[in-house]
Amino acid sequence: MEELKTKLLQPEEVGRAAELLAQGEVVAFPTETVYGLGANALDPEAVAKIFAAKGRPQDNPLIVHCTGIGQVEELVRDIPPAARLLMERFWPGPLTLVLPKREVVPEVVTAGLDTVAVRVPDHPVALRLLQAVSFPLAAPSANLSGKPSPTRAEHVLQDLGGRIPAILDGGETGWGVESTVLDCTTWPFRLLRPGGVTLEQLQELVEVVSRAQHAGEEPPRSPGMKYAHYAPEAEVFLVSGPGAAGKILELSEAFEEKGLKVGVMTWAERAVLYPGLTVLSMGHEGDLPGLANKLYHLLRRADELGLKVLLVEAVGEEHLGLAIMNRLRKAAKGREIST
Ligand code: AMP
Ligand code: MG
Repeated sequence: MEELKTKLLQPEEVGRAAELLAQGEVVAFPTETVYGLGANALDPEAVAKIFAAKGRPQDNPLIVHCTGIGQVEELVRDIPPAARLLMERFWPGPLTLVLPKREVVPEVVTAGLDTVAVRVPDHPVALRLLQAVSFPLAAPSANLSGKPSPTRAEHVLQDLGGRIPAILDGGETGWGVESTVLDCTTWPFRLLRPGGVTLEQLQELVEVVSRAQHAGEEPPRSPGMKYAHYAPEAEVFLVSGPGAAGKILELSEAFEEKGLKVGVMTWAERAVLYPGLTVLSMGHEGDLPGLANKLYHLLRRADELGLKVLLVEAVGEEHLGLAIMNRLRKAAKGREIST
């Protein structure tokens, strides 16, 4: 791939970012969840550049970002009333809906599926950018495929510097975990990926089953689910249950004996349980929004510290905890220990 000089654009330079996008280029931009790598969703050649820059497998479809329900109606064939209810309640916001696609949406965006994933982001810079261009933006997270998603412009630069022409810098993103992905082509609706809008919030309005309830029935509906994700270089172990601290101390001793640099990820109040160990603080105990916000930063931090092993205390799976544990499980790649 040709080496590019990646420009850092300030929010006032949205116009410059829009020009690049109109020329068929890719640009990274902030959203309320994580940074996205955008391209004109209606231009297959521009969209192909997203896959190239990220090293993303071609069969993993993209989310299309829109200015509002009006633009979404140009991309999808049908919006069931229950899906419209969710749009009105949660948009702009971190909820992606999978709906039957119209012809105008190129196959490269949907990886050949007859459905398209759409959402309206809740971020002033993202919305200004979408309004400045006349087309919707296909945008996955702006990281190298398999790496933790970027929540700061500097994370994007680390991963995609030299591979994309520009990054629109909007500071730190708010939520820190990706949007919730909901399949609205079956009834009840099906949660494909937990995210910023929680299962509990959705279930207050419509019938939703989570993927777990469908386990074993059929192949995964969301192609992205089969790929490793969010993983730092360090080996992550996810430890749960009342004996977690004891187990973590035992493991850290064993790994350190082998000469491996070990870190522990835990709530601030529990750091005292791990004297002498490198601790990555998850923030105040039980503050799930706070943890979601710093989760990917902590995973990237583990690599900056040169950790070889990261021992993580599991959190409860209520509310945002479901999205956080989903990402931690992927980072742990099956290395889960319950006590
Ligand atoms: P990312 O953009 O990297 O945050 O990932 C987008 C997620 O949405 C991936 O897990 C995709 O597999 C999923 N997705 C995108 N489009 C569809 C679709 N049409 N049907 C099901 N899942 C989708
Ligand atoms: Mg991603």
